[in-house]
Amino acid sequence: MSVIRKIAVLTSGGDAPGMNPAIRGVVRTALSMGVKVVGVRRGYQGLMEGDIFEMDYHSVSNIIALGGTVLKSARSPEFRNESGMQKALKVCRDNEIDGIVVIGGDGSFRGARDFTAHGVNCIGVSGTIDNDISSSDYTTGYDTSLNTIVEMTDRIRDTMESHGRCMVVETMGRNAGYLALNGGIACGAVAILVPEIAFDIELDVIQRIKMAQSKGETHFIVMVAEGCSPQFGGVDALAKQIEAETDIESRSIVLGHIQRGGSPTLKDRVVGTRLGNYAAHLLIGGAGNRVVTFNKDEISDMDINEALAMTKEMDKDLYRVAREVTG
Ligand code: ADP
Repeated sequence: MSVIRKIAVLTSGGDAPGMNPAIRGVVRTALSMGVKVVGVRRGYQGLMEGDIFEMDYHSVSNIIALGGTVLKSARSPEFRNESGMQKALKVCRDNEIDGIVVIGGDGSFRGARDFTAHGVNCIGVSGTIDNDISSSDYTTGYDTSLNTIVEMTDRIRDTMESHGRCMVVETMGRNAGYLALNGGIACGAVAILVPEIAFDIELDVIQRIKMAQSKGETHFIVMVAEGCSPQFGGVDALAKQIEAETDIESRSIVLGHIQRGGSPTLKDRVVGTRLGNYAAHLLIGGAGNRVVTFNKDEISDMDINEALAMTKEMDKDLYRVAREVTG
């Protein structure tokens, strides 16, 4: 095994709070081991273009509390092709980059796997608010995003209560309902819809609102994961249906990108730092094609292909709890 003298770090795909602590974890760890670090701007796109710069101790000063990613992120279709891989390979060769820590989601991990196969060791670190990486029960950014959802929905609840209204709140999560489920529980949603569990609007929304209404409830939050919305024509259509069937004035709101921003919470600062530290050790130790995993507060690693082949079950018991305590 050749000695690792210089590594790179990049952030790719959808950004997430906690990416900065992870970058800092990688940079400070590598420097403390006498290994040089270059930062790559705009993910794989910047790698192909050679948009890189040497990072020192102070490059990551004061970034632990920042949302987003100081390295910027991007999606790069060209990196999926051989021509993109070859451009990135040349940049790595020209700059003597021995390996890369890739902070992102499953898509970014696929890129990391393919680039490792081309000869540059890559290690994947989670950075995604959706908690949708199967090899880990927790992904960097999830806690911050959930806390934003709770803060925003609490505010919405105040005004719903004043006016006796219903609000349909859409969270992010095209394929994963973790944000909606946990956010819904934390905000006392009368109904929660997630893509992993089949639902019926009449039974799982309308009847639950009517039941709560019959017990004296006067305001309602319905929490919906983004991935469910096409099934009922969007949250606005659902609000109109609720109003028509219950006579409760109903509105809808898509929380959107506010869920992706903001200063990382304590948890995301600590998890990001730990994962970045672990990834740097792995890479400098000569490993490649690995994903850093985080399960039950323990860090480990596994082969990227193995990680990508895994599936993650929605916590059905948590869903049961949500249904039993509201509606
Ligand atoms: P995320 O990492 O958040 O899941 P994407 O799915 O958009 O985000 O992936 C981020 C980037 O990773 C893509 O723009 C592309 O450059 C790279 N990528 C995704 N899938 C592959 C693949 N199968 N092979 C090579 N690169 C890929």
